[in-house]
Amino acid sequence: MAYDQNNIFAMILRGDIPCDKVYEDEFALAFNDINPQAPIHALVIPKGEYVSMADFSANAPAELLNGFFRAVGQTARNLGLEKEGYRLIANTGENAHQEVPHLHFHILSGKKLGPMLTR
Ligand code: 5GP
Repeated sequence: MAYDQNNIFAMILRGDIPCDKVYEDEFALAFNDINPQAPIHALVIPKGEYVSMADFSANAPAELLNGFFRAVGQTARNLGLEKEGYRLIANTGENAHQEVPHLHFHILSGKKLGPMLTR
């Protein structure tokens, strides 16, 4: 799938639309989800045009892969989640119901989240 430069997270990265930022460095931007599914629900996105985890893991340079995953961990630390714990989700493609075609990791916490999937 080709990268859509007008997807909503591309617009946030360009500063075309605002976000509630929680962390930023040269590799990644993290901000609160507009429709939170838990008391804490942040999104971390890489600074690069990657549709999904499939695209990112195959095509991103090592420095960005490294920096992005460090930024995910740093965002969780900044949010104070180390002790209580948190869930990371990266929906990829249709089966996972990915809505925004720019790689993003959800960080969910702030309550006991229960089992990962309902049967
Ligand atoms: P996905 O289903 O693709 O894994 O998750 C996309 C997420 O992006 C959803 O949780 C949705 O609430 C969030 N989202 C969609 N549009 C915006 C927006 O304009 N701003 C923010 N902060 N989050 C958004």
